[in-house]
Amino acid sequence: MHRRITGKLVIATHNPGKLVEMRELLAPYGIEAVSAGELGLGEPDETGDTFQSNARIKAIAAADAAKLPAFADDSGLAVDALDGAPGIYSARWAGASKDFKAAMTQIERLLQERGATTPDKRGAHFVSALCVAWPDGHLEEVEATADGTLVWPPRGTAGFGYDPAFLPDGHTRTFGEMTSIEKHGLPPLGLGLSHRARAFVKLAEICLEPR
Ligand code: IMP
Repeated sequence: MHRRITGKLVIATHNPGKLVEMRELLAPYGIEAVSAGELGLGEPDETGDTFQSNARIKAIAAADAAKLPAFADDSGLAVDALDGAPGIYSARWAGASKDFKAAMTQIERLLQERGATTPDKRGAHFVSALCVAWPDGHLEEVEATADGTLVWPPRGTAGFGYDPAFLPDGHTRTFGEMTSIEKHGLPPLGLGLSHRARAFVKLAEICLEPR
């Protein structure tokens, strides 16, 4: 049986950008979102080998520490020709200085080495895994992807991370060339294109009730 989220929810992130996005997504449901950072909770090591297991580690740690239901996400870019890399290491490929231009250049170099020069060989997927954990051990988990192709050179300055190199299927502009409403916004305002928007819609279907 799925469980509904009511009342207060801990957002298990120390990333202010993600917190803003999650609060916006949760606001229409009357959920009071408080962040792990605001509660002074620590950050667990992400030792999982899948997006879902890392989301679960973060949600369970926050639920146990705060004694409240907690929501966590894990996401990244999986490139087909690179056997799913950078995958769960997407943030790490950009290094401590968060240099995503360098990370995109590294991916392009590897694609060139593998002869992946035509769009049909350059398929990639953004993945978003979401987990809500309750202090009694109950879990709700969903995962969604945004499918597309990697372009070179990167295009656009919007968004973050690998957005400028990612052309979502059926579109002519990269995520880096789209507004945040186009990329992340949920229908009717946006297209619900991004992996996070799609995963959130799945979670809302099973755990949230509009006010
Ligand atoms: P994490 O989910 O905080 O572990 O971060 C995953 C990493 O994947 C981010 O640092 C970005 O590099 C990348 N990533 C995840 N979602 C997106 C997105 O929507 N656009 C661009 N890059 C993303």
